[in-house]
Amino acid sequence: MPRDITNAAPHINRNEALIFERSSPGKRAYRLPPLDVPEANAADLLGEAARPHLGAMPEVSEIEIIRHFTRLSTWNYGVDTGLYPLGSCTMKYNARVNEYVARLEGLAGAHPYQPEKLSQGALKILKLLSDALLDITGMDAITLQPAAGAHGEMTGILLVRAWLESQGNARKKILIPDSAHGTNPATAAICGYAVENLKSSASGMVDIAALATQMNEDVAALMLTNPNTLGIFEEDIHKIADLMHAKGGLLYMDGANMNALVGKTRPGDFGVDVMHLNLHKTFSTPHGGGGPGSGPVACKKNLEPFLPVPVIAPKSDGTLGFDYERPQAIGRVRAFYGNFGMHVRALAYIMANGAEGLRQTTEDAVLNANYIRKKLEGTYDLPYATPTMHETVFSDRLQARHGVKTGDIAKRLIDYGFHPYTVSFPLIVHGALMIEPTESESKDELDAFIEAMQAIAQEAAEDPNLILEAPHTTRVSRLDEVTAARKPVLRWKP
Ligand SMILES: *Cc1c(COP(=O)(O)O)cnc(C)c1O
Repeated sequence: MPRDITNAAPHINRNEALIFERSSPGKRAYRLPPLDVPEANAADLLGEAARPHLGAMPEVSEIEIIRHFTRLSTWNYGVDTGLYPLGSCTMKYNARVNEYVARLEGLAGAHPYQPEKLSQGALKILKLLSDALLDITGMDAITLQPAAGAHGEMTGILLVRAWLESQGNARKKILIPDSAHGTNPATAAICGYAVENLKSSASGMVDIAALATQMNEDVAALMLTNPNTLGIFEEDIHKIADLMHAKGGLLYMDGANMNALVGKTRPGDFGVDVMHLNLHKTFSTPHGGGGPGSGPVACKKNLEPFLPVPVIAPKSDGTLGFDYERPQAIGRVRAFYGNFGMHVRALAYIMANGAEGLRQTTEDAVLNANYIRKKLEGTYDLPYATPTMHETVFSDRLQARHGVKTGDIAKRLIDYGFHPYTVSFPLIVHGALMIEPTESESKDELDAFIEAMQAIAQEAAEDPNLILEAPHTTRVSRLDEVTAARKPVLRWKP
């Protein structure tokens, strides 16, 4: 039985809910006091800026406005509503203490043009976060500026290019495993590199022999996600780093999966030269519509001179300041200093957990993913037997026999009150179901999810149409997803 969820709102049927238009002429949501100044017309006061008429604005009463937006808010699904097992995205709970700290007046009201001597608190926050992230990654230097993971990738590969150019040759190619996130090849191409595909071994890891033949003096770097997008830790990571360095190349790590490593092992210790972090994944800052992202880039000493300006630097009088005098810097990658509000939240998360807490977080994330894997193994096909860490990837092979595909199972999951997992990624698994529960979830929530997945597998065998027509409980059912992505209708039009 699908569980009772608020966003199913069973008392509103679909047709009624679709009546979006509530306006009728003459309704008002305000009442103004009687005019106590001489009446003037807008054109006299505003000249050309005056609008002759206001256009077709909705006319509704106050309660209708309140009900309209409150109703819309209940049609959405978020991490505050329930499990959000979107693999690779690390949709963890955004702790309210982060929000409290970010809203403190001195931080929320700080202006980026405020003089340095009046910004010592904000600078201290940036410094403390930088130091904590360097500690966690084992790297030497960092920039907090990039606004997302993909932006961090671009910044990191520009550092690689700048360093290689300083050695006399920027090189031509970047190697990228076939399991990589789509932003990796996009980044390499945008930074002027040709992308060369590196195939995975039968156990789902980098094929060392293939890497050894493909690595040569034309290759600038390998972009590697570790654990990779199958959730598998690259156990030959030292060999991989040595192979890259022996031929003068660098190892870039896509750090989107750091939730499996924090407090356990450090990229700086296993040969990574440069990497990005996703604060909105690993460090609990809001995701998607919840807020802007943040993708700091950490690097080894040799890349430090190329970091974007400004960098935070202690001054001779003991205060902190921004250093812009860096002749080798790649330039700026972001207005001001990055998404400061996210830096505050990430630091709050790190300090609230402490070193022990962060290590526990990693252990719980890996435990939760493996609990799901163990419980659903057999019900769903596991394409790779290699043990996984914080996420696990099934395929729809068993359900496809009944005509039910990964996307259909995901839609049916919505009826059971859960956000879908990641569908059809990574690309090397045909019909992938990529599941990442994160550490935020209780055993009860994981059990409810597992039961839903088992029930859906049974439905697939007994009544596949039920799944093929899902979701049944939402305001709209199957959308034309391509048109929705390519030609989104984002504005209300009368
Ligand atoms: C999320 C993710 C990215 C991109 O990060 P954004 O912040 O969405 O730009 C890159 N690589 C992997 C493996 C990811 O999971």
